[in-house]
Amino acid sequence: MQQRVRGVGRRWHTGLVAKKPKFDFWEGAETRAIQPYQANKVYLCPGCNRDIPKGLGHIVAVPPEAVDLRRHWHRGCWNGRANRAQKG
Ligand SMILES: [Zn+2]
Repeated sequence: MQQRVRGVGRRWHTGLVAKKPKFDFWEGAETRAIQPYQANKVYLCPGCNRDIPKGLGHIVAVPPEAVDLRRHWHRGCWNGRANRAQKG
């Protein structure tokens, strides 16, 4: 397990979750589909905190407020996140 996310996860939770989140960090994020042949690394999905294995097509999301915090998501996790956010 690599520590590629240290500090970052905490940062975007503080202040956003305490109250009803009127602002979704990932709202309006630019997404990009990664094809299986492009997935030549293992990534950690922030939706479920599990690895995205090599060779699995997935989604890269780039938050509009912080383009250097782009993250790789399982497709299902990304879609599930969007659904949850709408219910909010
Ligand atoms: Zn996931």
